Amino acid sequence: MQENQITASEWEVMRVVWANKETTSKYISEVLEDKMNWKPATTKTLIGRLVKKNKLNTIEEGRKYLYSPQVTEQESIQESSKEVLEQVCSQKRGAVLYQMIEETTLSIKDIEYLQKLLEMKKRSAPKMIQCECTPGQCDCSLG
Ligand SMILES: [Zn+2]
Repeated sequence: MQENQITASEWEVMRVVWANKETTSKYISEVLEDKMNWKPATTKTLIGRLVKKNKLNTIEEGRKYLYSPQVTEQESIQESSKEVLEQVCSQKRGAVLYQMIEETTLSIKDIEYLQKLLEMKKRSAPKMIQCECTPGQCDCSLG
């Protein structure tokens, strides 16, 4: 895990900020007290960590602070899904994606989009994926 990666709890905070562009810690606390049953102090701690990790901007406005995102939701999703895939052997990534799709409710539109992408990938896909794991971390070569 990268040092400045967003944790599951921090995602809860980021989602509020992403949805509202610019918001106060009071508002973030209210949303997460409802959803997660967190005390304001817990939310404040998470906000502090996200500022340190350069995920949130702090804007001082009079006596209160406003928070805005320093990273987009899109790039954060990309980063975290990339991280999940990099944790497993390159030969097992297809199975991870299969499982993710199997467990997700998709719209017809989502499915058509995925089908198109897969058709495109199929045209240039290799027959086999090479295992690039560190010896001792993978049993691929043992079959
Ligand atoms: Zn491997």
